[in-house]
Amino acid sequence: MSQYQDSWGLFQQDIQHDLDIEMEPVAACPSFADPTSDFDRNIPRICGVCGDKATGFHFNAMTCEGCKGFFRRSMKRKAMFTCPFNNDCKITKDNRRHCQACRLKRCIDIGMMKEFILTDEEVQRKREMIMKRKEEEALKESLKPKLSEEQLRVLEILLEAHRKTYDATYSDFSQFRPPIRTDAHKRSTSRSSSFTTQGFSSDESSDTFNSSPEPRMFSNLELSDDSDDSAAMSIGFSQLTMLPHLADLVSYSIQKVIGFAKMIPGFKDLTAEDQIALLKSSAIEVIMLRSNESFSLEDMSWTCGSDDFKYKATDVTQAGHNMELLEPLVKFQVGLKKLNLHEEEHVLLMAICIVSPDRPCVQDTALVESIQDRLSEILQTYILCRHPPPGNRLLYAKMIQKLADLRSLNEEHSKQYRSLSFLPEHSMQLTPLVLEVFGNEIS
Ligand SMILES: [Zn+2]
Ligand SMILES: [Zn+2]
Repeated sequence: MSQYQDSWGLFQQDIQHDLDIEMEPVAACPSFADPTSDFDRNIPRICGVCGDKATGFHFNAMTCEGCKGFFRRSMKRKAMFTCPFNNDCKITKDNRRHCQACRLKRCIDIGMMKEFILTDEEVQRKREMIMKRKEEEALKESLKPKLSEEQLRVLEILLEAHRKTYDATYSDFSQFRPPIRTDAHKRSTSRSSSFTTQGFSSDESSDTFNSSPEPRMFSNLELSDDSDDSAAMSIGFSQLTMLPHLADLVSYSIQKVIGFAKMIPGFKDLTAEDQIALLKSSAIEVIMLRSNESFSLEDMSWTCGSDDFKYKATDVTQAGHNMELLEPLVKFQVGLKKLNLHEEEHVLLMAICIVSPDRPCVQDTALVESIQDRLSEILQTYILCRHPPPGNRLLYAKMIQKLADLRSLNEEHSKQYRSLSFLPEHSMQLTPLVLEVFGNEIS
């Protein structure tokens, strides 16, 4: 071979820049993939024919794209090459195009086999297979649940309605009659004993319930003065020092719930009577739902800005409610919080809660049902396509269960509200809106 060294050198210079015209796009000429990974074979990725950078196993040997194409074409053409030299040319990346005979011989020497080359029919079949797979993927994609334009529009309206009616700064709270908390010692002990994430044993709750003083028949009017002295003095007269503040808070919340409801698509198509029936029966449930936004799992309180507006269950006992309501209410808040609902799911749940056909006094139940069905469908589709696992697991069912929980909370609230508002001293602390929505036993 040494006698040809000089001529080889000149030849190489002439075609210094091999443009590798044999190179073809990989996808256009599929070769059988080797079942064992190239990496597992622990072979350096160097072309066994010419020493160029290899791209993998082609026709049973590690080669570059150029030699792969060369071998396939040579086999298909059944080409017969003749070496212009001595049948022992050393093939390199730069000279590989100079002697086809020795290059092909090298291909066969390193194990390339024509049996590995796909026939035209096989290539066609493989292309069809790839096409079919792509079509199947496209079909699967098209079958995946998607929110329609209309559903997205409803969702956008509900989000906007919520943003307009829920002020997360709670700045309006300072306009309510001020909160007055009495018996700080009792509050701090019941805080640590009764309200933990672990749960609420019935023993504890009944203790708390029994220790709660019965509502007394004294006016709370003077309590609107928020000085400490007046608060301390009034302990003996009445425990419902939080009633004025919380009545204002509930009244304010009812207004916001009404504002939200009016923006639910379809709600205004209902008769005024049905709108009122739905609002009256769902208001307290929606207030419980929306209050979850301020509820904190860390200290089991509704935290609405400053410490003044941080509410523990014990604060609500000072507005005339007892643990028969508050224990399940806090439990409900914890469970709801742990669902980690998206804002979209939160607003849909409130809307679904309001537009329930099975509320008392509803006339056109079919229309109410159709509005609710539309919202439920949006919620289910939303969870399917937007809520990632594992949070989405049984999420719709869990949310519907929360609506059932709200019904019993509503029932307990009504019961306690009735006995509370039965006393004029208490009902006079309420607002006209609260009396209108929750009922006025006196009138
Ligand atoms: Zn090569
Ligand atoms: Zn040769």
